Amino acid sequence: MTRIAFLGLGHMGLPMAKNLAASGHDVIGFNVFPAAVDAALDAGLAVTLSAQAAVDGAEVVITMFQSGAQVVAAYLGSDGADGLVDVAPPGTLFIDCSTISVEEAQEAHRIAGIARHRSLDAPVSGGVVGAENATLAFMVGGSDEDFEAARPLLEAMGRRVVHCGGAGLGQAAKVCNNMILAVSQIAVAEAFVLGERLGLSHQALFDVASNASGQCWALTTNCPVPGPVPTSPANRDYQPGFAGALMNKDLGLAEQAISLTGVDARMGLLAREIYQEFAAGAGAGQDFSGIINTIRADSAAA
Ligand code: NAD
Repeated sequence: MTRIAFLGLGHMGLPMAKNLAASGHDVIGFNVFPAAVDAALDAGLAVTLSAQAAVDGAEVVITMFQSGAQVVAAYLGSDGADGLVDVAPPGTLFIDCSTISVEEAQEAHRIAGIARHRSLDAPVSGGVVGAENATLAFMVGGSDEDFEAARPLLEAMGRRVVHCGGAGLGQAAKVCNNMILAVSQIAVAEAFVLGERLGLSHQALFDVASNASGQCWALTTNCPVPGPVPTSPANRDYQPGFAGALMNKDLGLAEQAISLTGVDARMGLLAREIYQEFAAGAGAGQDFSGIINTIRADSAAA
């Protein structure tokens, strides 16, 4: 049994913390937002009144926040509050599961390392359903030793745990994967709208492409038209799923990484532009496959 401080009990963090507690660990949660603390209490999780109280005596500190700025601020301390790395005894394992930039993740590793802690970046994919069902995929950056120490905890919250390399490389894997996903979801949506204009039925295009070289997750799982894949968000009016706002956030991190590395990633940057527009409108709360409606609306009258 490991004593774990779990900070950030939002849509993802609360079910993840619950799964850790259910697997027999001593989990103490905290969230800066009081309503989230109440929800955690209602869910039967032990909570504290401050992050510092949760971290005091913990062997492992897991964070699941919205942004890298929040992670760095919590590690270092802000608004007069002690930094988590100063409260925790040396050698504590810090695992950040938030989706943040590679640079911010490396900064968090540096801060933890200077305070003589161990650290991992371990962003996830799989969404709230994956968090609830403990079927998340973890992409992990950090040393072999820290990865092996964390593995049983991550396996209590997920189904697939991949060690991607050193500090920040979990975030690098996440940003690259989601850039592929964004570009392929747009490509699939454009193909369906083109097929409509050419008189091709959705089912016929699906039957061909899903068994040919156009096959991809955006088509066979997240099909952007209702019918061919009954479980895809298109069948429930594009309720997420994976919201356009979150895809836009991840593409913002991809854009930063592209700019830092100087890669000629024109498709990735165009996907960022398209999803930025989508997320600024009705698409913010829709599944990102709803981009097909924008493509239809923006197409010239037939
Ligand atoms: P959320 O906004 O529901 O939860 C984050 C929580 O962290 C908030 O309740 C916030 O109050 C809390 N918080 C912020 N700073 C804190 C601090 N210093 N101490 C304690 N609590 C603090 O967000 P979410 O949907 O749970 O997502 C969390 C992370 O996971 C994000 O980085 C997101 O990009 C990533 N992610 C989300 C999904 C998804 O489907 N929701 C999927 C994959 C990855």
